[in-house]
Amino acid sequence: MKCAFVNQKTGKKCQAFTMKNAKFCFFHNPFLEEEKRMARSKGGKGKKEFKLPKVPLESPQDVQKMLADLINSYRAGEISDKRATILQRLSDGMLKAMELSGLEKRISNLEDYIQRHP
Ligand SMILES: [Zn+2]
Repeated sequence: MKCAFVNQKTGKKCQAFTMKNAKFCFFHNPFLEEEKRMARSKGGKGKKEFKLPKVPLESPQDVQKMLADLINSYRAGEISDKRATILQRLSDGMLKAMELSGLEKRISNLEDYIQRHP
């Protein structure tokens, strides 16, 4: 389904696909707008989320540690479902990228080896 948003200036409909069970795409979802607005106004009515500390994310082990912290924070009710979902997706991407760069390194090591041993 296409997003129900219509640009008031141009009269054009948004061509993006909607989010699951929603009338709008990610950018035009009014619910998200509300959440963004609440995030902007400090001390709003909404549940305050903890500011998570920056952590090094250089190895799969770092990501694993971060995920463990994330799970604990989530279980303690310190972060929202939405935030947990986003962080989980990001760490998934991070892990995949790490896996790929690891594979790339192994392949180039193999190529080097083959060249040195014709
Ligand atoms: Zn849209």
